Amino acid sequence: MTWMKMSVCTAVVAVTLVACSPGPPPSAGPSADPSSAVAQAPPPAPAATTPPAAKPTRTTPVTPEQSATQSPSPEMTTPEPPTTPPTTPTTPPAVDTVAPGASGVYTAAQVHAWVKDPTAAPGKLLFLTFDDGPSNLITPKVLDALKAAQVHATFFIVGQEVPKAPEILKREVAEGNSIALHSLTHDYKKLYPGRSANAERVASEFDKTLAAVREVLGPDFSTTAWRYPGGHMSWKHMAAADAALEARGATWIDWNAMTGDAEPKKRRPTTVPAMVAMATQPITDGEQVVILLAHDSRGKDLTVASLPQIIDAYKAAGYGFGTLS
Ligand SMILES: [Zn+2]
Repeated sequence: MTWMKMSVCTAVVAVTLVACSPGPPPSAGPSADPSSAVAQAPPPAPAATTPPAAKPTRTTPVTPEQSATQSPSPEMTTPEPPTTPPTTPTTPPAVDTVAPGASGVYTAAQVHAWVKDPTAAPGKLLFLTFDDGPSNLITPKVLDALKAAQVHATFFIVGQEVPKAPEILKREVAEGNSIALHSLTHDYKKLYPGRSANAERVASEFDKTLAAVREVLGPDFSTTAWRYPGGHMSWKHMAAADAALEARGATWIDWNAMTGDAEPKKRRPTTVPAMVAMATQPITDGEQVVILLAHDSRGKDLTVASLPQIIDAYKAAGYGFGTLS
């Protein structure tokens, strides 16, 4: 499986959309290090294909260790969460603040490793990811669809949007979804001047976005997951920025499937069947671990309309629904 090439991610600020050039491979940079613990895990049990069961009745928050033991294939998740290696001196273990009801909760480093080596995954897994919110217009409709289907998603939020929709953020968590970070400004020119990552800027936007979320959800909120606006694949000289994320206990994660809702107009689906077809292509391709890119920002009504069918298709194909802690 390879990370899917994509040219743009919907900008929530007015920026020029830049065409992608081939980026470094996902294994480049220090972010590959944390996943090595998972990559070196014992080989998977051949029969371990049962997806994580939904546990809608859970009443206590899930810790990374607990989520590992809930995996159908314990030997697959035996390695320590890669955010706590002895060589990481200053970063405390991430506090998992996923609300009760979440099922199949994994760190970004785990999932990152599974994309590179799907045989290590505990089964067929779909990670629904929504970028660029929270939005008062679209996110509630996404949440309604997730709730109706009794599945959960990961919301990669933009820090500057948080003060505009704090109650939406609270609802995301209260209904069992995960919150991850997607920069403060989503401004390509600031994050990647000359198409090269500005590590100091990335670090500072991580910190400010984390602070914005903690303003709403409380000081215990933490996450291991960061998604670069536009995708890690789209930019150059990422190593220092990746290292800054790692120093904060986080790992970048791109996607390997998409709804197409932020594609250039000529490739963007314009009907529900077309969007469902694009989003469910990994089922046809037999992908084991699918990270589906979608957006819950303004104007993504077709995404909302397509979501129930996308979810149903993955359910019917036997996928479990994971979230990123
Ligand atoms: Zn984005």
